[in-house]
Amino acid sequence: MTNEELANIMYPDVTHDIDYYEKMYPERKLPEGAVVSRYSPSPTGECHMGSLFSSFIDEFVAKTTGGIFFFRVEDTDKKREVPGCMHRQLRDLKQFGIVPMEGVVAATEDNKYTEVGDYGPYVQSERIEIYHTYAKWLVANDYAYPGFETPEELEIMRKNQEARKVRTGYYGAFAKYRDVSNEEKAKLIKEGHPWVLHFKSHGNYNRKIEVNDLVRGKVTFPENDMDQILIKENGIPVYHFAHVIDDHLMHTTFVMRGEEWFPSVPLHVELFKAFGFKMPKYAHTSVIMKVDEKTGNRRKLSKRYDPEARMEYYHEMGVPTSAVHEYLMTLANSNFEAWRDQNPNADIYEYKFDFKKMSLSGSLFDLEKLKNISRKYIASLSAKEVYENTVKYYNEFDKNFCNLIQKYKDYTINVLNIEREQKKPRKDYAYWSDIKNGISYMYDELFTNITYTWDKINNISEIKDILNKYISVYNDTDDKDTWFNKIKELTDSLDGYTSNMKEYKLNPDNYKGNVSDVSTVIRIALTGRDKTPDLYEIMKLLGNNRVKERFNKID
Ligand code: GLU
Repeated sequence: MTNEELANIMYPDVTHDIDYYEKMYPERKLPEGAVVSRYSPSPTGECHMGSLFSSFIDEFVAKTTGGIFFFRVEDTDKKREVPGCMHRQLRDLKQFGIVPMEGVVAATEDNKYTEVGDYGPYVQSERIEIYHTYAKWLVANDYAYPGFETPEELEIMRKNQEARKVRTGYYGAFAKYRDVSNEEKAKLIKEGHPWVLHFKSHGNYNRKIEVNDLVRGKVTFPENDMDQILIKENGIPVYHFAHVIDDHLMHTTFVMRGEEWFPSVPLHVELFKAFGFKMPKYAHTSVIMKVDEKTGNRRKLSKRYDPEARMEYYHEMGVPTSAVHEYLMTLANSNFEAWRDQNPNADIYEYKFDFKKMSLSGSLFDLEKLKNISRKYIASLSAKEVYENTVKYYNEFDKNFCNLIQKYKDYTINVLNIEREQKKPRKDYAYWSDIKNGISYMYDELFTNITYTWDKINNISEIKDILNKYISVYNDTDDKDTWFNKIKELTDSLDGYTSNMKEYKLNPDNYKGNVSDVSTVIRIALTGRDKTPDLYEIMKLLGNNRVKERFNKID
């Protein structure tokens, strides 16, 4: 019996040949160098830092090369499916500005999918007919065969191999059905014995192949010689087979995926070769690690212990999307930071992603670095832009505060402009959620029950004396020099205080305080804090009356 005849017996329902699909999904018409990438999660879990990292890079390289970034649902393990998780993943990606151009673009709570594009279906469970067509081709071309062993038998075989200290797996002499005649196999099928589809490897474990991984560089593997299961007893393909067929038919050129797939690359190489398909470029990322705050050791970033591993963290804390993008790009490409220094105002999408500069640094997550990038980013925005983002954030997380800053819109923009829109702006906000605490004292509605506490100058009559003297000279129309001179003059008029900082530093024990301490008294009385942005600006915005009112509250 020929292989072709066996293939017909195995797949009686397959009506097309592979040419049919090859024509149905022709080469994409894209500019030279365009990258086709995909994010292809299984609907079994939520988006996390690792998936955000690779989907951002996938989207970035597609977008910047005039290519396509598509979303595929890999739902071949129905038992592990979690309702609504693709809906949430798409929502989470969107929150970070990542939107698929093709494939599954929307999902419902009960895992119903909406797709766009000419290379679908983009949901693997709807592609069974396609997989079977290609499986049939493999059988007819001596690259696959049915096996009739049960999972239990395979498990016993594996244990025996371990006991005998030989390589585990279904290969060579262990591949029980590999050399059984086609007649015998056809007979078992006709008798109704359940079967799986095995790959028929032509590889030799003693020969080497070299794989060029974009993250790991050139890596040498032994050739694949495993007759791996490609299609399970229920007719559903395993990842390896679906990956090769889908990424071929969808014309993927760049596959970024987790390191757990790296050892399977030799199998994928052989499968692509068997079909005569062109292979995509691979980038295998590592599990994301972090340096543990307590021990200083590296460990896996954990959803359980590290809030920053969860996507909600970024949303709830209000981490600007652009800052997340900047950070992910510094992890992905070692050239990026230098480029950013030279092009501080350029749109990130102007950056030319360098595949040769991909590294494993993406595996070490550093929240402090992200915060610094974010501080720099927020500092680079205009007061109006900060205001708009702040409104958007608090509209979701604190309606009262949102209403307040909308009520005092122009005032709030001025508050946000203190030490902004200048050469070296203040970098004190890492997250949008920092803003309320950063400016709350500027609103009388929130500046209630403030008590004066400062160890250095804490005698109430002395404090009141400073404030009373000062209010009689303060005027919100003064320029900054006049304002400062008035505080200096006040300082020198007080018993035991000096505005001469040099003199104070030489003989601190001779004095109760200096000009900076007097400013601090004023600052605390007005804001409840001993550190704030520029006090002169703050006072100007508060104005004469509110300054007076706040001073009067101190007792
Ligand atoms: N569904 C696979 C996973 O979630 C995708 C791997 C890939 O990107 O090829 O691991």
